[in-house]
Amino acid sequence: MTDCLFCNIAAKEIPAEIVLETDRALAFRDINPQAPTHVLVIPRAHHENAAALAEADDGLADDLLKACHAVAVQEGVAESGYRVVLNTGPGAGQTVFHVHAHVLGGRSLLWPPG
Ligand code: IMP
Repeated sequence: MTDCLFCNIAAKEIPAEIVLETDRALAFRDINPQAPTHVLVIPRAHHENAAALAEADDGLADDLLKACHAVAVQEGVAESGYRVVLNTGPGAGQTVFHVHAHVLGGRSLLWPPG
């Protein structure tokens, strides 16, 4: 076990409802869903947030976005529309410091978010 919740989920040390796995990414249902589809997509490798992931420059951000789209297709929300959110830093509402993309869909989504 590490002190990172999402590293522990990726290592299957902590249970989660996993919906998709690739070599470099993992997707699981959010424990407190904000929409009928609310899935978190993470890289297996630890990066603190989207800014750190972007700076890593190893193609992982591309993999993450592709995994988000695959989740949307699998969940049946790709055609009706879905939202991908990367809260980056505490001021933006990030509470878990292992980068994760929220994939939200299955209802109409308001803009701007709060
Ligand atoms: P953040 O606020 O963007 O960092 O999002 C963190 C998300 O992780 C929140 O939507 C939480 O509901 C979710 N979360 C926290 N712990 C767990 C867990 O153990 N399993 C699945 N989702 C979790």
